[in-house]
Amino acid sequence: MFPFLAQGHIIPFLALAFQLEKTNKYTITFVNTKKNLQKLTSSLPLNSSINLLEIPFNSLDHNLPPDTENSDSIPYNLILNLLQASLSFKPYFRKLVSDLVGERNGQKPLYIITDMFFGWCAEIAQEFGVFHALFVGGAGFGFACFYSLWLNLPHQNTDSDEFLLPDFPEASKIHATQLSEFLKVADGTDSFSMILKKLMSLWFNVDGILFNTVEELDHLGPTYFRRKFGRPVWAIGPVISSNKSQAREQTHFGISLEMCKNWLDTKPCSSVVYVSFGSMNTIASSQMMELALALEASGKYFIWVVRPPLGFDINSEFKGNEWLPEGFEERIKISKQGLLVHSRAPQVDILSHKSVSAFLSHCGWNSVLESLSHGLPIMGWPMAAEQFYNVKLLEEEIGVCVEVARGKSCVVKHQEIVAKIELVMNGTEKGKEMKRKASSGLQQKLRWRRTIGGGGGEIKSEKAVALFEKLEHEELKPDSAS
Ligand code: UDP
Repeated sequence: MFPFLAQGHIIPFLALAFQLEKTNKYTITFVNTKKNLQKLTSSLPLNSSINLLEIPFNSLDHNLPPDTENSDSIPYNLILNLLQASLSFKPYFRKLVSDLVGERNGQKPLYIITDMFFGWCAEIAQEFGVFHALFVGGAGFGFACFYSLWLNLPHQNTDSDEFLLPDFPEASKIHATQLSEFLKVADGTDSFSMILKKLMSLWFNVDGILFNTVEELDHLGPTYFRRKFGRPVWAIGPVISSNKSQAREQTHFGISLEMCKNWLDTKPCSSVVYVSFGSMNTIASSQMMELALALEASGKYFIWVVRPPLGFDINSEFKGNEWLPEGFEERIKISKQGLLVHSRAPQVDILSHKSVSAFLSHCGWNSVLESLSHGLPIMGWPMAAEQFYNVKLLEEEIGVCVEVARGKSCVVKHQEIVAKIELVMNGTEKGKEMKRKASSGLQQKLRWRRTIGGGGGEIKSEKAVALFEKLEHEELKPDSAS
């Protein structure tokens, strides 16, 4: 298994690895760069049999800051360099597979599962005669929109603010405000267009595509990719981290698990809003001020994971007096209304706590799955990539989300944010309906298994394991998708 160098990609790969490991049927080799593997080591249980294999990487060779090996420690625009750099892995990955086969006396691996950006691994897998699948940690719908937009750039051929996607009309209209900052200015010859088209065109070569999604809720996206690439596409989600694996990861959080739980334990059931924008994104400081004012004015309890706002060093230490309204930190501490977490929180643990009622999220797909599998409705503030279309799916099709704002630099007044928080948390008809859909009804539909035990809920995807067991016994043909 070989994910891209980003938390949002590594996390679902690791969750999938854990699911497969539990069957005791597979030996798993997890490939990544040194620093990412070091981080992973602390997430693995002591008795884990997952082998970690390092692929050489020097960030300086790719115009990245020294020692940066993950999207969470670089400014967002440098993801371009990280994408381009990933092509340099090819010879190392070939050698790694070759060594693996050599060490096992010519016995080749059963499967090679790589990131959606590592379609180039197909060539190596074919050389060794190994079945190769991509694992896309995102939603089918979100990525179908993302792919179609980058491929066709429909917004460049219209004066209208709304447009259809030429090869994906089922998605209905996209609005110009639902484009990421890079997509807005893309003309097909820019570096982002070039690299994304190149990486995504490699999907034609793979044996299969796995999405961390659920076909019952997200069928348009997988259907689009089946049509587009003629490859088998499987929805094997939700594959998400459990509390247990996050507990082991504690050293990387800006707060201890215990402090978080203690704080949450003092709050009434379903009274807290959790606010986090994932591992890479952040908002403008003016918007951070508005969000702070809104949370305070809403009167709701909240946990807010604060990352440095736009324009500040992403690795900067916390500067509450510059980023937040005057006296804010002090006031919410004294009133016990809010808990600020610097940079990274134990998200799955927080979401699984009975005091949490809703999630104000950027709608990265891992966060979405984690929220819904704990029955929590979402207030969406999409910022980049396919997040805008995740919100569209969640709000228009599934009915579990209300959009609060759009984009990193949008202008939203705190009163507007308060109104959305109240809509979801104050027992309005719409809020109740969202909660109902996000909890029992939705979970039953998805057949998600939830065992509430001492350490909280553990959710597992039986589909992922079942698929791999099935693949083992079947001769796979590209048209066998179902
Ligand atoms: N995450 C976390 N603590 C944080 C922020 C994020 O544990 O403070 C985890 C979160 O649980 C999720 C992942 O990081 O599994 C973020 O993935 P997502 O797809 O939601 O967003 P991305 O970071 O890729 O934009």
